[in-house]
Amino acid sequence: DVLVIGSANADLTVRVDRRPGPGETVLGTDLVENAGGKGANQAAAAARLGARTALLAKVGDDAFGEMVLDGQREAGTELRHVLVERGARTGTAMIVVGPDGDNAIVVSPGANSRLLPGDVTDARAAVAASAVVSLQLEIPPETVRAAVAVAGETGTRVVLNPSPVPEVLDPALLEAADPLVVNEHEARGLSGLDAGTAADWARALRARGARSVVVTLGAQGALALDDAAGDPVAVPGVAVTAVDTTGAGDAFTGALATRLAAGADLADAARFAVRVGAVSVTRAGAQPSYPTAEELD
Ligand code: ADP
Repeated sequence: DVLVIGSANADLTVRVDRRPGPGETVLGTDLVENAGGKGANQAAAAARLGARTALLAKVGDDAFGEMVLDGQREAGTELRHVLVERGARTGTAMIVVGPDGDNAIVVSPGANSRLLPGDVTDARAAVAASAVVSLQLEIPPETVRAAVAVAGETGTRVVLNPSPVPEVLDPALLEAADPLVVNEHEARGLSGLDAGTAADWARALRARGARSVVVTLGAQGALALDDAAGDPVAVPGVAVTAVDTTGAGDAFTGALATRLAAGADLADAARFAVRVGAVSVTRAGAQPSYPTAEELD
């Protein structure tokens, strides 16, 4: 089983011809609302692929919370651990997309900031029952640390996507990551190597304590560096026509967690995840773009 512990948001998107400057108002397209948040996206990706998947997250008792729950229901996620906090607002991401597809985003964490260490310890049995727990950094840092601590006690494998990327990653998190899943931007930031290749970044992150590392490289695919002695494995990308890359990294990580939970080795899991990520960019949106196992074939 896969347990995702993380954020759940409503993504509110408007396209504009030009970004407003300070004090300025511009008109945009009709508002588009989608379920999002890294945790919810990863859970949707894993569940859609057929893995038994649960999401531990917190939403408010508002319409956006319902939207998050609907998205997970559609994907087939176990919802017992999605906590609804009365009087809280569901997290929202307000996304302004400019003419070149460039995003400017404001996130209001809302109920995500109320997902507390005690919520994780309450779900200890779910952690213990899972082969893999998948974490990101859109919830309070002490909650992520609690998840790592519980996973350490229950012997559950930790997949960690350190996003949004912190200036310094807590060593306890880095040392639990098996793998640390980073995109190019996160790899450069956390390895401290601005230059170099993906293999250099992966080796540097392992040297800093990560048990294993996967670097995602957009259209170029990914690179996997396992803890077993050996060289990094480059997984080539799949050539597709990209329509919308929103949530591609979350599709990748959800798919990776699914395969690792099924017992695959890291390179095999990365090969699978690269295919899932590629399908996700050929369709609009994050969660609605995620494939089932049949679609992948
Ligand atoms: P993030 O979305 O976190 O920045 P990446 O851009 O590295 O992450 O994308 C994650 C994965 O999604 C890649 O490893 C790849 O499998 C897939 N992907 C992303 N962009 C493309 C693309 N243009 N063509 C094919 N696959 C892509």
